[in-house]
Amino acid sequence: VIQKDLSLANCLISALPTQQRAVFLAHCEKVELKLHHMLHQAGALLNHAYFPMDSFVSVVFPVLDAPDVQVALIGNEGMVGASLVLGTNTSAFTCRIERGGRAFCIHRTALQQLLEVDPALRNILNRYLGVRQIHLAQQAACLNYHSVEQRLARWLLMARDRAQSNEVFLTHQVLAIMLGVRRESVTRIAGLFEYRGLISYSPGYVMLLDEPGLVRLACSCYQSDLLSYTRALGDLMPAAQAQRFFDSQAGGLDVLSNK
Ligand SMILES: [Zn+2]
Repeated sequence: VIQKDLSLANCLISALPTQQRAVFLAHCEKVELKLHHMLHQAGALLNHAYFPMDSFVSVVFPVLDAPDVQVALIGNEGMVGASLVLGTNTSAFTCRIERGGRAFCIHRTALQQLLEVDPALRNILNRYLGVRQIHLAQQAACLNYHSVEQRLARWLLMARDRAQSNEVFLTHQVLAIMLGVRRESVTRIAGLFEYRGLISYSPGYVMLLDEPGLVRLACSCYQSDLLSYTRALGDLMPAAQAQRFFDSQAGGLDVLSNK
């Protein structure tokens, strides 16, 4: 559910102090991201950064002699085009829209100029880059240690959190890239999840039916990701926003508090 105050619909933007937020938003355009469109290709010039509201984007790393690897899902907790913050105007990743919806879009020049004059913005986006680094390390651990079933449960929960809905639209191909398996394996594993009452599945559409069950099945990376994010940025979010953030991930945080 999108808040009435759209300026709070992206966690990073909502973490800005009110006055800086107004200045930042004055440089942004509200855009509609269309499902399955490419936001940018690996290696291409980044002209814009995007701050999703109700949309989300998959971040894929191309491997020269093997299939692409999915490394992240970015929704209202983050930004697309984060390398602009480092002053790098290209990205090593391909970003594709997996849920259509709205985003704030800012031109690279405007973003980089604001970063020079606004320490609050710099602080938030630097912290966010720190989180992204931890998430990449987490992803390396995940691919090494965790089963396909654990990883599917994790990605579905991540997609649910970013969609803010139990309905997620993920094609066979995207699920295959997420899991690093062939499409036939996606059919088999999704069938297994359906048999266990965890999801209802048809190609291109997943409905999450048993959230606690998925949280139990998911690998610890799901909780670790949430924890590293809230450790880095939780104190900057307005209380109401932080509460909403925690609520939407209640399953994961329950498990955390039991530790
Ligand atoms: Zn994992």
